[in-house]
Amino acid sequence: MGLGSPSFIFRIFKTVEISTPKTPETLKTPQTLMERPPQHHGYIEVIAGGMFCGKTEALITRLRRALIARQKVQVFKPRIDDRYEKEYIVSHSQMKLETMVIDRADDIERNLHPETEVVGIDEAQFLGHAIIEVCQRLADSGRRVIVAGLDQDYRGQPFEPMPQLLAIAEYITKPQAICVVCGNPANFSQRLIASEDRVVVGAEGLYEARCRRCFVPHPVEPST
Ligand SMILES: [Zn+2]
Repeated sequence: MGLGSPSFIFRIFKTVEISTPKTPETLKTPQTLMERPPQHHGYIEVIAGGMFCGKTEALITRLRRALIARQKVQVFKPRIDDRYEKEYIVSHSQMKLETMVIDRADDIERNLHPETEVVGIDEAQFLGHAIIEVCQRLADSGRRVIVAGLDQDYRGQPFEPMPQLLAIAEYITKPQAICVVCGNPANFSQRLIASEDRVVVGAEGLYEARCRRCFVPHPVEPST
């Protein structure tokens, strides 16, 4: 059998294939999958995490990319978040995007343009359980839905409706901040003031990012 014989060439190709195996779909990062989104049907992406982990920045980055691709984008956020300018979602690092302030989850559908392809929702933890069905209907109608929200409250308890949204989402991103105490990845939001309210609006000075070891759940039980 000579070097140029078909069977030898076949063996070479086989060896090359074995030495560079394709990455299984399940092992690819969400970012890789995001570059090949589903065609012809909608889907839900959830960006969940603690404070200072970059949720809003991740949301703005994805929405901006969609806008650059000339897709029709609408962005919504609940009225409770009035830390910065009212008509924008703004990240801690001052990235911002024009948005519509809503009082209830179903305001999204009431104000939705028929041609909108991508729907961004920030601070979803303030929109109650109704946001789950709204997201399902938006995705069922063929739209890409990108939802960002705080997945744990100041006691480290799951913050509804984020657990339900995480369960129904096709894609999940959980960015972590950096623990202010020890520098490890931080998945918790440490409250620094004494308050029994589940929500204290604002972030700088009121909360800091902490890891599991450095996080201290607030000793005061909430009154509601
Ligand atoms: Zn730590």
